[in-house]
Amino acid sequence: MLSSLAITDADPLRWIVAGQLLDAKNRRVLQNAHLVYTRERIVYVGAEAPSAAVVNGKKTPDLALPDYTAMPGLIEGHSHVFLEGAELDIERRTAYLKQDSQTLYQRAENRVRTLARLGIIAMRDGGDNERVGLRLSRLSASKNRPPYMANVFSPGAAIHRRGRYGSFFGKPLEDHPDIESCVQARVSEGADHIKIVPTGIINFAKGAVVAKPQFSVEEIQQFKRAACAHGKHLMAHASGELGVDYAIDGGVDTLEHGFFITDGQLAKMRDRAISWLPTLTPVQAQVDNAEVMGWEGQTLDNLKRILENHARSIQEALALGVNVLVGSDAGSCGVAHGTGLLREMELLEAAGMSTADILYQATYGNHRALTNQHPVGSLEETFKPRFLLTKNNPLETVKNLALERVVLFDGAAESNAGIGLGDL
Ligand SMILES: [Zn+2]
Repeated sequence: MLSSLAITDADPLRWIVAGQLLDAKNRRVLQNAHLVYTRERIVYVGAEAPSAAVVNGKKTPDLALPDYTAMPGLIEGHSHVFLEGAELDIERRTAYLKQDSQTLYQRAENRVRTLARLGIIAMRDGGDNERVGLRLSRLSASKNRPPYMANVFSPGAAIHRRGRYGSFFGKPLEDHPDIESCVQARVSEGADHIKIVPTGIINFAKGAVVAKPQFSVEEIQQFKRAACAHGKHLMAHASGELGVDYAIDGGVDTLEHGFFITDGQLAKMRDRAISWLPTLTPVQAQVDNAEVMGWEGQTLDNLKRILENHARSIQEALALGVNVLVGSDAGSCGVAHGTGLLREMELLEAAGMSTADILYQATYGNHRALTNQHPVGSLEETFKPRFLLTKNNPLETVKNLALERVVLFDGAAESNAGIGLGDL
């Protein structure tokens, strides 16, 4: 099967028929769908057989896969590609970060290439200080990218207030005379989008965000205007009712995390077309690993209550029509790259998001909002041939994506079984 899927110099075009195909752009499932692709792009998708001209005169498909579902490769909506996510030990996490830039880069490049082989074909990053994401962004978009190189969309260093949360993945606004020149500097360095850190993180022992927001509404509005002037979207890390309020009123494009969000704020997000990445996984990881992390009693109860409330807010967001996207915060403590995204999808499913919606949003939804129109995340003509084939119907449950699947990536075909996960 793999050799009938892979592109070769002798046969530069493949024509397959899949039992069902996820047309994420049109939010529908095609039965017995034809899919034709070269190494560079998809040339045909449809329920009808392609014309002879499209398939270079081939009379029959190269492969019929009636028991398989074809779907676009997954896009991770929020990751920190420079961090090893699975590691739980704080000292080892700190030591990891002390490695030099080149070592951090090399490990991240290996990570990205493993992710592509697992079917995670692109990721939007939340920032790093060592130009790791920027270098990967440039390489992954270049003609001489190595095989199995997932696209990375990077903001460079996130932007935080000096002395406040964010220094391990960002640099302070105060390095620049004003907000406009700070954003200009990020764009000059090659940023694909602008990432700001308007709030701190949750204090688990107190079960709340206790520090006051880092940026005012007016400052966030300035970030938005500056990002917009350069054609970049504004990604904002915010949790806590007040900080979330500032981010929404500041007009950010995507709200990351958003713990303690209110129903009224969700309605405002819908009205202002702000997308939400609820990132359940990093908090769930704290509960799953409570013993190792040293959480018990009141703190553990706080974590569970925060997750319950967040799941309820996700249901409210979906009922209101908020654009809920899929990102796991992979790289953060206990959230491995790759499996973290699958875990986020499972948690969204458990929170009440429909399985089909999760699949649409983790592919075309993330493509549309997060990738600057890069042609990845959809099975449509002109998009890159990066897709999954599986006998384990993902429309029954997203958990099926963790089982055996074949990944087609720019002409190469491989089963996920037997791929070493390395330092994801
Ligand atoms: Zn993050």
